[in-house]
Amino acid sequence: MAHFAHARVDLDAIADNARSLRGHAGGTPLMGVVKADGYGHGMLPAARALLAGGAGWLGTAFIDEGLRLREAGITAPVMSWIIPPGEPLGAAIENDIDLGVSDPLLLDAVLAEARRLGRTARVQLKIDTGLNRGGVGSAEWGDLVEAAARAEETGDLKVSGVWSHFACADEPGHPSIAAQLAVFHDALAAADKVGLTPEVRHIANSAALLTLPEARFDLVRGGIASYGLSPIPNYDVPGLRPAMTLRARVALTKRVPAGSGVSYGHRYVTDRETTLALVPLGYADGVPRAATNRGPVLLGGRPRVIAGTVCMDQFVIDVGDDEVTAGEYAVLFGDPGEHPGTPSAQDWARVLDTIPYEIVTRVGVRVPREYV
Ligand code: PLP
Repeated sequence: MAHFAHARVDLDAIADNARSLRGHAGGTPLMGVVKADGYGHGMLPAARALLAGGAGWLGTAFIDEGLRLREAGITAPVMSWIIPPGEPLGAAIENDIDLGVSDPLLLDAVLAEARRLGRTARVQLKIDTGLNRGGVGSAEWGDLVEAAARAEETGDLKVSGVWSHFACADEPGHPSIAAQLAVFHDALAAADKVGLTPEVRHIANSAALLTLPEARFDLVRGGIASYGLSPIPNYDVPGLRPAMTLRARVALTKRVPAGSGVSYGHRYVTDRETTLALVPLGYADGVPRAATNRGPVLLGGRPRVIAGTVCMDQFVIDVGDDEVTAGEYAVLFGDPGEHPGTPSAQDWARVLDTIPYEIVTRVGVRVPREYV
């Protein structure tokens, strides 16, 4: 099947980004975060590229994602951190996946499963230092570390890590950052006091690893920056290259008279006789419908804006009297450093009042990833 659209993923860029992030983090070991299909880039190729670039760990949200890494033969340390009640734990324990543990009930469940299997489970205890999302609250932290220390004595469990996550690391100087770090230090001291000896202590995401040396500890978790995108708006990170280019071939062009309403709802009306170009990517492919009359696209060597409503499978661009022919590529986003004039995922995020994370992770399953 001929594909009119694809997401081109530059794996060398991902590997280079990993190298570069290690440099930015002063050599601290890097966990490449590959959840959500490697932020839309393809989990397995992204994981291999990150490891090739020097990442020592891989991180996923869900155990299933971690297991897919193992099934693909990846032996590097892997951690998975969203574990709802009732989630089967056996395969993760047998495959040496570090489990992010956010509450005492999960700790009990891991311990019971490890005993049943006769294996030592690796757990990373998560303290909620102020994000108020996952993690055990600081009031309950003492109980959790004590329970974990008792469990360690049985040999069924090893506390391999203690970790947390920032709320506002993408706003350098935000007062919550120092407050969270202080709580994290107290949590580490409490873990130490009960005799826990975690191999890794970590709290930094991309923004923190880039801007906050005091948050590096033993490991930094690089997600969005691994894919070459800055976690902080208007903050260029030297050495990072966006890895994904989303583009599609124009499916047809047509001349229409002035006053022609374009696409559903006629939200765009031509102001002169003009050429319309049809691009076969729509909201089912991750081009948000909110990009109607707003989404930036490079076509025919010139920056343009989507004309009218983004449909499920297609949108239209008004190219005026320019010579644009069917088969030519329209580039939605990519690396402006490589091809000047190309919009970036950050440009799309700005236009749509969101973050580049959402732009790349939403690229749909119908869009083939093409690896270079
Ligand atoms: N750590 C955790 C717990 C996360 O949920 C995420 C992603 O949201 C990351 C690290 C990576 O964050 P970023 O992509 O900002 O580097």
